[in-house]
Amino acid sequence: MELILIVGVALGFWWVWDRRRHPVRSCRRCGGSGKRRSAWNGAAYGACSRCGGKGETKR
Ligand SMILES: [Zn+2]
Repeated sequence: MELILIVGVALGFWWVWDRRRHPVRSCRRCGGSGKRRSAWNGAAYGACSRCGGKGETKR
């Protein structure tokens, strides 16, 4: 039981530390391109609504 607690706390610290090191990740919705293709016209695109066209989102 104590071992599970220690591992859990260690994983929590590692997760927080990783978040601080990498606060920004590529947008999942547009795949980091910042563009969102139109469903009707493949040549038309707009800014991704999730990342605002930057292609990056905060984790
Ligand atoms: Zn996006």
